[in-house]
Amino acid sequence: MSDVIDIANEHADYLLQMSIAQHQRRTVGHATSAEFCADCDEAIPPLRREKVQGCQTCVDCQQLRERRV
Ligand SMILES: [Zn+2]
Repeated sequence: MSDVIDIANEHADYLLQMSIAQHQRRTVGHATSAEFCADCDEAIPPLRREKVQGCQTCVDCQQLRERRV
């Protein structure tokens, strides 16, 4: 059962880290967007990273992903 407790502790720690990160992001004023597309490694334009907060892909790959769904 100790594994379960370890996972719970790690999860609580993760949530804490996330809330700290979110607070820092809010202070800075924007969410962290990927600099490079997660799918094709193209550089994501700064304007897109700013507008689509937390985006992980370029426009093309985002459209492909949405079409796939
Ligand atoms: Zn891409």
